[in-house]
Amino acid sequence: MRARLQEEAEPFFHALQAPPNVTIRLNPYKGKNLFPEARCVPWHPLGRVLHQRPDFEHSPLWHAGAYYVQEASGMSLRNFLPERRPLRVLDLSAAPGGKSTLILGELGLEGGLLIANDPDPKRRAALRENLERWGIPSYFITGRHPQYWAQRYPEAFDVVVLDAPCSGEGLWRKDDRAICQWSPQGVKRMQRFQRSLLFAAKALVAPGGRLIYSTCTFAPEENEDNLAFAFANDASWHPVFWETAPPEVIRVRYAGEGIGYYFYPHRCIGEGFFISAWGKEGRPALYSKPYKTVSSPFLLPKNIRAIKRGEQFYALTESAIACSLPDWDKEIWEAFPIWEHARPTHAAALLAAVEYPNFPERPLSTEEFMHYLAGRHFNPQAALEWVTVSGLGVGWLYKGRPSLPFTWRRFLRHYQP
Ligand code: SAM
Repeated sequence: MRARLQEEAEPFFHALQAPPNVTIRLNPYKGKNLFPEARCVPWHPLGRVLHQRPDFEHSPLWHAGAYYVQEASGMSLRNFLPERRPLRVLDLSAAPGGKSTLILGELGLEGGLLIANDPDPKRRAALRENLERWGIPSYFITGRHPQYWAQRYPEAFDVVVLDAPCSGEGLWRKDDRAICQWSPQGVKRMQRFQRSLLFAAKALVAPGGRLIYSTCTFAPEENEDNLAFAFANDASWHPVFWETAPPEVIRVRYAGEGIGYYFYPHRCIGEGFFISAWGKEGRPALYSKPYKTVSSPFLLPKNIRAIKRGEQFYALTESAIACSLPDWDKEIWEAFPIWEHARPTHAAALLAAVEYPNFPERPLSTEEFMHYLAGRHFNPQAALEWVTVSGLGVGWLYKGRPSLPFTWRRFLRHYQP
């Protein structure tokens, strides 16, 4: 780092000892106007820098998915997404969902489909919770290895995001384990692993599409060296520039044309991060095999349809349905669950842009919500009431006492009012 940063090396080492900033990204459907006094993240209009870390787990707005807690550098991904819509996007290493919630915020209810993939089942559980809380039902979740995707759906995606597993140097001030686990051999090992993922990711991009590669490490071996290895002298690809990158973000050139962007903690408000993107020549694909829909057990917002697998109903936007893949029935996936065991799921209460005319609303104060979360009995007037805080859905009240949703049960193990 001394050789690379020269006179900036000391400020860099100093910044590694400083506490990280607290940043959040607002949900465009639920939290657009929150934290009006907070500073904006320069590269994301919905990113906010907070003065201090709020007690997220006791915040009804967090439970309602009004914002996502994410370090700022990763929010730069937004600047590498193409403007055209619809998009069929594959996030190959999606858990716990920082980049996926950002992509869903960009696609919204009308901009296409995200497949949020992660092979790690434990991390996928966190991904599932975060995407449900976010409430934008434009996604499927899968757990395949990138090689599977590359063989099964070559050249099928407008955007492939590879936020690769890495040596995590950029996380040192957030996570002590990242320091203990680091070694020069580890960087080399990661480089080999990332190259195999990168080639699979490359094979998945459709003509006219993009590959976005990022890591949270400063090691060039895992960043520009990998991309130079994958893209040098490949005339069917061109680098994607971030024209409006602010001066605190450092540009590196590689393999002649290639350009990567480094976020260093002594210059930027975020943690250490690297991002670079390549576009594939050709014309974008048209989609023609929409997934089949069924009638929903209850009224869904405009542009959202129900799909069914077994006894389970899921919500999916019309534009995501139009972007679904051939033979999608044969794949193993999850989507945004809205109905199971003959009643709406917890996630259904969190759906973005929803107002349920057929379920009476039960508005709670923040204090009441904490009691609700802790399992205190509230007496509903109707058989089923939609529970809201500040106008945002957070759950249901049933006559009788249903079991609490899994995510809340887990939360309650740590919380006693
Ligand atoms: N994109 C995530 C976000 O923004 O919240 C963070 C991703 S994290 C840097 C890397 C992820 O890669 C981990 O969730 C890990 O489970 C996943 N991973 C591990 N092995 C993988 C593989 N062979 N293919 C794809 N992803 C893998």
